Amino acid sequence: MTKPVLDLSGIHKSFPGVKALTDVSLRLFPGEVHALMGQNGAGKSTLIKVLTGLYQPDAGTITLDGNPIAPKRTEDAQDLGIRTVYQEVNLCPNLSVAENICAGRFPRKSWLGGGRIDWAAVHTEARRVLAQMDLDIDVTAPLSRYSLSVQQMVAIARALRISARVLILDEPTSSLDDAAVQRLFTVLRRLRDQGLAILFVTHFLDQTYALADRITVMRNGETEGEYLAADLSRLALVNKMVGAPPDQQPTRLDSRAPETGAPVLKAVGLGRRGALQPLDMELKRGEVLGLAGLLGSGRTEAARLLFGADTADEGHVETEGRSGRWHSPREAIAAGIAFCSEDRKHEGAILDLSVRENILLALQARSGLRLCMSREQQQALADDYIKRLGIKTASADTPIGQLSGGNQQKALLARWLATEPAVLILDEPTRGIDVRAKEDLMDAVRALAHKEDGTGMSILFISSELPEVLHCSDRVLVLRDRRAAGEYRRGELDERSVLEVIAAEPAA
Ligand code: ADP
Ligand code: MG
Repeated sequence: MTKPVLDLSGIHKSFPGVKALTDVSLRLFPGEVHALMGQNGAGKSTLIKVLTGLYQPDAGTITLDGNPIAPKRTEDAQDLGIRTVYQEVNLCPNLSVAENICAGRFPRKSWLGGGRIDWAAVHTEARRVLAQMDLDIDVTAPLSRYSLSVQQMVAIARALRISARVLILDEPTSSLDDAAVQRLFTVLRRLRDQGLAILFVTHFLDQTYALADRITVMRNGETEGEYLAADLSRLALVNKMVGAPPDQQPTRLDSRAPETGAPVLKAVGLGRRGALQPLDMELKRGEVLGLAGLLGSGRTEAARLLFGADTADEGHVETEGRSGRWHSPREAIAAGIAFCSEDRKHEGAILDLSVRENILLALQARSGLRLCMSREQQQALADDYIKRLGIKTASADTPIGQLSGGNQQKALLARWLATEPAVLILDEPTRGIDVRAKEDLMDAVRALAHKEDGTGMSILFISSELPEVLHCSDRVLVLRDRRAAGEYRRGELDERSVLEVIAAEPAA
C-alpha cells in the first residue's frame, strides 16, 4: 500500500473562546483527489491554514514523506512543496498571465546580462506550466482579458510552477459556472494522474462525487471520518456532515408543540435573484421555527432578507404593523425583528468592550427610536441579562474577549433580547461553543418562546447541526437549492426523512 505524502494527526487549534480544531487528523496520498467536506464552521479553513503555516497548531504533528515538518510561515510550506490556491483569486488582473505566474520568482539573466528579468524565459516558463494543464493561451496578454475559470487555472499554474507535492484548493469553484467547473476538473484529474496529491475543499456534494477518490468529513472542529468516495452514499455523507439525529428526544424536553398564537412574521413569495427562490413562510407567536439545510441551501439568505440585510427583489414581508419590503435592517428592527448573525467575528462581539457594553450596543443603536433610559437603568438591564442567561464572567466590566465562546454567544443573545424584539432570528448561535454551553443556549431559546401567558418571542433558529434544529424547534422548514423542500412539525418529526430531503439530488 502506498504511504501518505502528508499526514496530520492530533491537531488542536483554539482561538480565544473558540475551539476551532480538536484532535484532527488527515492523510493525503499521492495521485488522489481528497475532498475535505464539512459544513460552514466545521474547521476546514483553519486546518488548511495550519497546514500552510498561516497558523501554528497548539498541538499535533504533521509529516511530509514521513518526516516531521512545522511550517512557521507560508513560504516554509511552499518550499516544502505544499501549494495552496485560496477561494479568492489573489492575482493582479492588469499584469500579464506570465507575470502573474512568475511574480516573486522571476527568471533572471546572469549578472553578465545585468541580472535583469529575462522576459523570454518568463514567457517560456509560463507556457511550460500551462502546458502541463493542457492550456494554451497568450501569456503576454493581461490576465483581466480572461474568464474567471482561466484566471483560476492561472492561479493553480502559479502554485504548481515550482515542484509541488501537494495542491490545496479551498473552495475553488464557488465563483465558477458549470462549464468552468468541468474545465477545472479536467485539469485536476490530469494533475492527479501525474501523481500530485490534491486536497479539495468544497461543500458541493455533486462536485465531491464527480472528482474525489477519498473523502474526509469534518464536523464541529473534529474529524468525523475518512472514507473512499465509492463506499459512501450521498445520504451517508450528509448524515456525517450534519450529525446523526438523536435516537430520541431528550426526556427533559416536552416533545409536544405548544399551542402557538397568531402569525407575527410572514414571508410571501420573498426572493432574491441568485440567493433565494420565492419563499412562503409563517412564524407564529411563541414558536421556534428551525431552518435546516446544507450550506448554500438558502438558510442565511432567507434570514438576511427577513432582516433587511439584503433587499428582496420579489415578494414581501408582513408583520403585525406593516407589509412591504425592507430596504435596510433599520426598518426591520423598527418592526421588532432582531438578527443575531452567524458572523460573530465581524458583526458580533467587540472584543475589547466590556460584557455590559456589548449587551447594550443594540439598544443604544436604536435609542433614537425610543425614550432614552438612564445610564443606571441600562446598566441594571444588562446586569439582569447576565444573571438570567447565566453568563459566566468575572464582572460586567470584564472585556468580552476574555469570556469563553459560549458565554460570548450568550452575551450576544442578550444584546438582542434587550431590544425586546417580537421576532428573533438566530443564525448558527451554537457555532464553536462546547456541548454544555450549547444545551444551555438551546434551553434559553425554548424558554424565551414558550411562555405560559402567550407573550413568548417568535424565534427563527438556524443551525448546521441537524440534531440541534430538531431538538430546539416546534416546526422545521427544510431548504434545498435555495427553496423550501419540506416542512415538519415537532412530534411528527421523522429525522430520517428530514435527512433524505436535505440529501436529495437536485432536480436537473
Ligand atoms: P470552515 O472553513 O469549515 O467553514 P473555519 O475553519 O473557517 O470553518 O472555522 C472554524 C471555527 O473557528 C469557526 O467557529 C470559526 O468561527 C472559528 N474561527 C476561524 N478562524 C478564527 C479566528 N481567526 N479567530 C477566531 N475564531 C476563528
Ligand atoms: Mg472555510
